[in-house]
Amino acid sequence: MNVPNLSTGAIFRENISAGTDLGKKAQEFIAAGNLVPDEVTDAMVRAQLSAGHTREGFLLDGYPRNTHQVQELDAILSDLGVAVDVVLELTIPDEDIVHRLLKRAEIEGRMDDTEDVIRHRIEVYHEQTQPIIDVYAQRGLLVKVDGSGSIEEIHERIINALQDFAHSSSASSC
Ligand code: AMP
Repeated sequence: MNVPNLSTGAIFRENISAGTDLGKKAQEFIAAGNLVPDEVTDAMVRAQLSAGHTREGFLLDGYPRNTHQVQELDAILSDLGVAVDVVLELTIPDEDIVHRLLKRAEIEGRMDDTEDVIRHRIEVYHEQTQPIIDVYAQRGLLVKVDGSGSIEEIHERIINALQDFAHSSSASSC
């Protein structure tokens, strides 16, 4: 099934390139490797999910990223009458992330892919985002996948893990 992929980081970057108000609000936080304030991010996600093109399902990439955003997502989805089916955690050692993103910097030139900002983003991830993993694990929605290796290897692991998860959830609901 082809469902839209909503990447909050990509939406911010498009808005920065287009010089929109949203882009202006987000730019300094992204450049420093900090999270964009919740009120800005939440409003953007609510608008995206309410726009109608997500009616057949959607993939959220990069949201929620802290415990407040988990609650906000719960509220948005409850208003829309839908629920999260599965949460995917890609695991990879911090030093491999630094290496991988410095490589990406050579190709894409993202403003937040400098070594200092990458290391800060990893700290922000451990402080603010990692705690939400337990929340989704407790809800029985978490699927963990090893994020090291080639794109093809990771893709195959993700597909297999999601299939296993779908089978085990349909078996447990029988
Ligand atoms: P990403 O493309 O997912 O690596 O995100 C790039 C940057 O966008 C992050 O470092 C944050 O500054 C910002 N960002 C993306 N998603 C969120 C979010 N859910 N909450 C706050 N800031 C975000």
